[in-house]
Amino acid sequence: MKLVQTVSEMRALCRSAKLSGKRLGLVPTMGALHAGHLSLVHAARSRSDVVAASIFVNPTQFGPNEDFARYPRNLEDDCTILEREGVEFVFAPSVDEMYPKGAVTWVTVEGLSDRLCGKSRPGHFRGVTTVVAKLFHIVEPDFAFFGQKDAAQHAIIRHMVRDLHMPVSVEVCPIVREADGLALSSRNAYLGAEERKSALVLHRSLMRVQQLYQSGDRDSAKVIAAVKNEFAAEPTVRLDYFEIVNPDTLEPQSRVEGRTLVAVAAFAGKTRLIDNVVLGA
Ligand code: AMP
Repeated sequence: MKLVQTVSEMRALCRSAKLSGKRLGLVPTMGALHAGHLSLVHAARSRSDVVAASIFVNPTQFGPNEDFARYPRNLEDDCTILEREGVEFVFAPSVDEMYPKGAVTWVTVEGLSDRLCGKSRPGHFRGVTTVVAKLFHIVEPDFAFFGQKDAAQHAIIRHMVRDLHMPVSVEVCPIVREADGLALSSRNAYLGAEERKSALVLHRSLMRVQQLYQSGDRDSAKVIAAVKNEFAAEPTVRLDYFEIVNPDTLEPQSRVEGRTLVAVAAFAGKTRLIDNVVLGA
């Protein structure tokens, strides 16, 4: 496994792999790897000849009062894990390497970037699409692997790839959960024991939605009201949003009909967590 820290070296390595006819898969991450990330690596391994993973805590997708400074970073452990997984290239650039001094160029997917997490985290998706566009230009992957956990993120990236004719296939992998249902996240490390317990309300609320769906409830307002009751019973968790939307446009749907994304974000203490389920798939 090769650890690469500069754009020029990463570009040269990836280009030479592709020139020798290899299919290249990219797994973009912010590190602090867990089994969710590894599921993407496994998917990449099964679809590609060469797997590249990036580890970059991207400052432009964090708001001024968010957790950029304290986001968990452990490059050494991450590299050990990725080496064990047989990943060929790990790209871990510095912030200065990814954002040359004076960089003022952004990639924005308008409209979608202001929905779901984009509403409560202004500028977040602009940071995501900008850094992912950079990674796509540097690596030029055939496939890029993203998790369903960040449902809005992959919808926005799919849109960007389509709009800008980027020659990459975006692959989406299912959410990996703990045994009790909590979606794996690098931010789970922030949770104290009590917060960890109360954070289960996110998954519980989505299971409730699934029950309602199975029993024939299709009215979004009614479903959302039922879910708000679940959160009212867990006062230590503050709901940010609970929305029922189209999984491609992220526009709200008044009825749960066709493929529907039900997405939730909430704070357990200071930790912001997200989760979702797709109905009618
Ligand atoms: P992050 O390091 O949080 O930016 O995540 C990197 C990639 O891993 C994103 O595509 C996420 O959607 C994906 N990911 C994070 N958590 C999970 C999970 N629990 N299951 C599946 N994919 C995940």
